[in-house]
Amino acid sequence: MKEKIIYFDNAATTVTDEEAAEYACRMMREVYANPSSAHSFGFEAEKHLKEARENVLHALGYTSRDGDVVFTSCGTESDNMALFGAAKAKRRRGNRIVISDSEHPAVENAAKELETQGFELIRIPTRGGKIDLDFAASQINEKTVLVSCMTVNNETGAQYDLQSLSEITRRNAPNAYFHTDAVQGFTKVRNISAFDADLISVSGHKIHAPKGVGALFIKKGVRVPSLLYGGGQEGGLRSGTEAMPSICAFGLAARRASDEQSEREAHFAVLNSYLREKIARETDGVIINSGTEGFAKHIVSIALPGIRSEIMLRYLSERGIYVSAGSACSSKKADNRVLSNFGLSEKEADSTLRISFSKYNTTCEIDALTENIKQGMTTLQRVGK
Ligand code: PLP
Repeated sequence: MKEKIIYFDNAATTVTDEEAAEYACRMMREVYANPSSAHSFGFEAEKHLKEARENVLHALGYTSRDGDVVFTSCGTESDNMALFGAAKAKRRRGNRIVISDSEHPAVENAAKELETQGFELIRIPTRGGKIDLDFAASQINEKTVLVSCMTVNNETGAQYDLQSLSEITRRNAPNAYFHTDAVQGFTKVRNISAFDADLISVSGHKIHAPKGVGALFIKKGVRVPSLLYGGGQEGGLRSGTEAMPSICAFGLAARRASDEQSEREAHFAVLNSYLREKIARETDGVIINSGTEGFAKHIVSIALPGIRSEIMLRYLSERGIYVSAGSACSSKKADNRVLSNFGLSEKEADSTLRISFSKYNTTCEIDALTENIKQGMTTLQRVGK
C-alpha cells in the first residue's frame, strides 16, 4: 500500500477494521469448521454465525422476533434476491414494479431485466433528492407487487422519505413487498426499522468489513423463493457453505457501527459542515450539489464548473488523494442517469466529484483536499483541460 494516502472514497468501499480483520483470520485459522457440521467444532462455528446474524439484526434495529437475515456475497446479490424473489413470489398478484429513478444499478438493472420478463416498470422521480410522493401515490396500486427505493443515494447522499413511501405502499398496494437498498444508509441512518420494510439490503464493505459479504433482511412472514438450489443453508434461501470469515467480520463491524452510531454521526456532521465552509470560503465557483436537509452527512457531491471530473480525479489521485467521480460503479462509464435525474445538467454532472467520509477522516485531510482542489482548478484551467 502507498504511504500516507488521503481517502475520501468511503461510499465506494472502506478499509476493513483491524479487529474485524483479526476476527476473520481467527475464523479461517482456528474456528474453521463448517457451521452445518454435526460435531462440536461445527456447533462452535454455528455459534459465531448466530452471533453475526444477531449483530446485523441489532444494527438494523431488529431482533430475531422481527425477521431474519440471510447472508449473501454482496449488496448487489441482496438487491437481486429481493427483486427477483419478490417478483417470483408475487407474480400471480400483479405485474407492476415501482422503483425510484435514482437506484443503484443493482436495483435498476434487476428491475429492467424483470421488465423484459413482462413486468411493468415505473420509476418515481427524485429531483433535488426528494422522492415525488404524489407521483408515487398515483402509480402504486393494487396491481403493484414490489416497491423499491434506496435509503440513501450513493452519488448525492439524498435520504428519501421512506416512511411516507412505505405508508403509501401499505395503503395502495396490499399485495406489494416494500424493499429498501440500505447499502449506503446502514448504520448511518437511524430508525431503518421504522420504514416497516419487508426486505432490506445491506453490504459489509461499506462499514469496515471485508468485501464479498452482504445480507438481506426478510421480515417475519415475508416469503421469497430461493434463487440458488443446493444444500439449503441460510434457511434454504442461499445455498452454499457460509463465508464465515467475512460474515463474522461483518457482524462485528455492524455491532461496532451501531454501538458508535451517535459518535460517527456527530463526526460526519462536523466533517460535512467543515468541507462546505471551506469550499464556500476558499474556492471559486464550486457548486455543492448535496443539500443540508434531507441528506446523509457522509456523502458530499460537488461540481467544479469547467473541469471534467475524471481530470480532477486524476490530478488528486496523483497527489495521493482519493475521491470519486459520481459513483464508483458508473465512474468508468459515461452514465449520468442519477445525477441527471437529480436535476444536474450534463455539464454539471460531467464535472461532479463525490467526497465520502469514514470515521477515520479528519478536518486536516479536508484542508489538504480543498487546497489541492483549489490548486488543481487553477492549474487545469490554465492548461485548458
Ligand atoms: N446499492 C448501493 C446504494 C450501493 O452504493 C452499492 C455499492 O456501491 C451497492 C448497492 C452494491 O453493493 P456491493 O458492492 O456490495 O455489491
